[in-house]
Formats: sequence, structure tokens, C-alpha cells
Amino acid sequence: MRDAFGRAITYLRISVTDLCNYRCRYCMGEDGVQKRGHADVLSFEEIAQIAAAAASLGIEKLRLTGGEPLVRRGVADLCAMLRAIPGIRELGLTTNGGLLPALAPALKAAGVDRLNVSLDTLDPEKFRSLTRSGTLDDVLCGLDAASDAGFTGTKLNVVLIGGFNDGEIPAFLRLAEKRDLTVRFIELMPIGCAAKWDARAFLPADAVLKAAPDLIPIGGDGVARLYRVPGGRGTVGLISPMSDRFCSACNRIRLTADGRIKPCLHSAEEYPLRGLHGSELTDALRKAILSKPKEHCMDAAHPSGALRNMFEIGG
Ligand code: SAM
Ligand code: SF4
Repeated sequence: MRDAFGRAITYLRISVTDLCNYRCRYCMGEDGVQKRGHADVLSFEEIAQIAAAAASLGIEKLRLTGGEPLVRRGVADLCAMLRAIPGIRELGLTTNGGLLPALAPALKAAGVDRLNVSLDTLDPEKFRSLTRSGTLDDVLCGLDAASDAGFTGTKLNVVLIGGFNDGEIPAFLRLAEKRDLTVRFIELMPIGCAAKWDARAFLPADAVLKAAPDLIPIGGDGVARLYRVPGGRGTVGLISPMSDRFCSACNRIRLTADGRIKPCLHSAEEYPLRGLHGSELTDALRKAILSKPKEHCMDAAHPSGALRNMFEIGG
């Protein structure tokens, strides 16, 4: 269905857990996440029921996220349930990649169409420092495992952090050249922990074009501006929620692990869906879609209006 501003809402991002095996400094505090009781998190059946209601309103694409979706036990079973919903044409999953070596084949078998893997540095020491616990090699093995399992078109999400990884732009471009990957550079957003970060950490995505002026523009996909690496195999994407808002092309809504719909990532507005069934559920979803704001108000001087951290929303 269309929202109040005529945008067709076709994409639902589903957070399946707030928990994570990493503690990325821009996303989560050092102490990690306070574990919720089992009953505070939507069951697979509840998620599938909400996704089916969303599909009846025109949602065609689902993406699982978190926290880290792969730490939720049985996540491949959930994927199979969601992929079987009539009207769902694509199921994606965003992951830090650390558990892909173990889970990539099961995800492929469950019908997951595409993976987005988040990776912000190619330096093992910096990786450990940023994630406070992760091992770079696990993620690189995860990318191999995804490819071995038959995943194609995998996207690598790199959050640009001034003074941390802007010197690695050429190294990421070489990775795009070598592997069949779209490397997407995403502007750091002032949300959750990152809202208090120094202004120097927030770089415009155009920093990539300054570091690599020979990138060849090949259009866009609504959210990302796309480029080809001269002579390379891969594609580069620039995602600029700060310097170049793409709200007019936004086609998504979000479901939190505790069962609330967020019409906009950067708004505090949420619609609880738990316990709703049938027409009550579709009516609540419809109301949420119609309340989607025209655009977010976040910029360098104004942090996100979301009251949650990214790991509690799903990004
Ligand atoms: N754990 C999974 C992962 O890291 O891919 C999925 C959840 S994570 C919250 C989803 C995405 O949000 C990741 O690509 C992460 O880098 C991004 N993210 C988290 N905090 C962010 C921030 N303040 N600004 C921009 N992106 C952020
Ligand atoms: Fe975990 Fe993803 Fe947040 Fe990093 S960005 S702490 S991997 S949820």
C-alpha cells in the first residue's frame, strides 16, 4: 500500500533479537545488551503472522536483522517460514558475518535470497577494537562460506568513520574488484551510542569519491548511488542518510524484536502489534504505514529522534 506521501511501502525489516556476539562501539555499550525474557521477544509464529499480514498489504521484501540475527537459535527455520509466505518475493538477511561459516548452507537451503555482511575495517587489530570481541578472519571466512553455499550478489556494508577507516577506502575497493561484491559505504548516523561521538567521525559518503575519483557512476537503486570500479568485477555503493537524505524514496518499515512497528528509523513513533490478530493486526499495520513521516530531521546538529539504539531496531 502507499503511505500518506504516495510512497509504495514494499519492504519490511524484521529484528529477530537485540542480542549480539559483537559490541561495535558505535552501536552498543561496553556491557552489551540486557537479556530479555523469552516471552518478551516475538516467537517465530508471531513474526510469521505479522509478515503475512504485511504481505497482504503489499510488502514483497523481508530482511532479517538484529542485534545479530544469526545468534537467534533456529533462525534458518524462521527464514523458511517467511520465504513461504505468499507475496514475499525476496528474503534478505543483514549479519556481521561471524557465524556464517556455520550457518550459510542452512540459510541458503531455507530460501534466503541475499546477504548483507557488515565489515568496517580490514585490519585485524582495528576489527577487534571496534567490535570489542570479534575476529576479522571469522567474517572473511563467512564471506567465503556464503559464496560456497551459492549466495551471489552479497553486499558488504562499511560504515565510514572519520579517523578510523577512511584510510582503508582503497583497500575496500580492491576487495570489490577481487570478489563479486557490492561494497556499500554508509554514513555514520548520530543514533544511540554514536549520537555522542565527535563531529570528526561523521564523514560524507563523497569522501569515497575524493579517495577514488576514477569510480564510474552507473545510476542508483533508490537508497544507494552506484559506481563501477574501472576494470574490476564489483560495484560500489554510497549511502548518504546524512548528507543526501533519501526519504522520498524510502519504501520500508521496521519490526522490532519486541513486536513494535517503526514507520521511520529516526522517529520515536512505534506501534505495538503483539497480541493483535486478523483485521486488528492489518489495521494496526495500515495505521503505522499511513503515519510514516515525510522525512527524518537528523543532521550534523540534530541526532536521530529514535529512542532506541541501532541494535534494538536493526538498522
Ligand atoms: N548485527 C548485524 C550487522 O552488524 O550487520 C545486523 C544489525 S546492525 C544494527 C545493522 C547495520 O547497522 C550494520 O551494518 C551496522 O554497521 C549499522 N549501524 C549500526 N549503528 C550505526 C550507526 N550509528 N550509523 C550507521 N550505521 C550503523
Ligand atoms: Fe552487533 Fe551489528 Fe551492532 Fe555490531 S552493528 S554490535 S554486529 S548489532
